[in-house]
Amino acid sequence: MKTVMLTAEQTDEAAAIIRNGGLVAVPTETVYGLAADALNGKAVAKIFQAKGRPMDNPLIVHIAELSQIDMLVSEFPEKARILAEKFWGGPLTVILPKSDQVPVEVSGGLDTVAVRMPSNPIAREVILKSSPLAAPSANLSGSPSPTNAKHVFDDMNGRIDAIIDGGESDVGVESTVISLAVNPPRLLRPGGITVEQLREAIGEVVIDDAVINPLRSGEKAASPGMKYKHYSPKANVILLKGNGDLFLRYVNSHSGENTAVLSYEEENGKILCECINIGRSDDYKTQARRLFTSLRKADEGGFQTVYAHCPEKQGVGLALYNRMIRAAGFEVIEL
Ligand code: AMP
Ligand code: MG
Repeated sequence: MKTVMLTAEQTDEAAAIIRNGGLVAVPTETVYGLAADALNGKAVAKIFQAKGRPMDNPLIVHIAELSQIDMLVSEFPEKARILAEKFWGGPLTVILPKSDQVPVEVSGGLDTVAVRMPSNPIAREVILKSSPLAAPSANLSGSPSPTNAKHVFDDMNGRIDAIIDGGESDVGVESTVISLAVNPPRLLRPGGITVEQLREAIGEVVIDDAVINPLRSGEKAASPGMKYKHYSPKANVILLKGNGDLFLRYVNSHSGENTAVLSYEEENGKILCECINIGRSDDYKTQARRLFTSLRKADEGGFQTVYAHCPEKQGVGLALYNRMIRAAGFEVIEL
């Protein structure tokens, strides 16, 4: 299959492909999504094939107007209304009991559906011109999520119908996922909307154990995605936990030709091996924006070992920690 590159203005073409049951990679503010018509089960099934994604890992449905949620869910409780009002369009996905119209391919056989309204105007235009879109990240299953059109092309060329080039994703990590199908509400994946913001809006929110810990064997995942290998570059990523001087001393005494460091801006010139600048130490938003690009850069450079700072589990730091701990296969060295 030939993969066509579309500009941000070619949303008519993108919508036509989707209405015909095809696949288009669409920019969103979190990461690029691989989109199909969410109400067309056959089209949605192609997403799993293109990505190599296990069929039991459900997809997020993207809407552009609040009225579109009616056809997707069987209940829209007060807490969902509050969260939608406060955080949509934006990087927050809400899980609710699903309607009969949601195909089994979208829900992965669960009786719930994940819904989000992106803020990205290109994504919203495509949705308005076609339908609600089922869209996971537009990467090959297991590899880091794409934050620009080139990342998508590198993974998906020949496997999908088209890619819209909408520049760099702003948030850089996937949406926050909260389940409102359980009581109290449960954070299944941290993202650009923080758990602190969620608690301020709706009160108690439990953080699912799998957000920061590996699943124990035999344990059932609240979010099926959490049981799969994720965000992993080819390089061996190692998280280092310790203050600035200890970090510098460790990487400088362990650096080699095949080693790269995801470094803070303040560390420029202080590290002896290849540095990939991930942002200022106190700027988790920039670090999130650059994380997946940095992991891809490390692979393009052929590095075998990548050292990175272990983020604090607060604010957007929790989203970084969740991705980096998986990229590192849960390997952390305490300095
Ligand atoms: P992705 O779109 O690849 O960023 O992944 C979406 C994430 O949301 C995955 O971790 C899914 O397992 C999770 N998810 C989607 N739908 C549901 C659902 N109905 N219940 C629980 N988790 C879900
Ligand atoms: Mg993904």
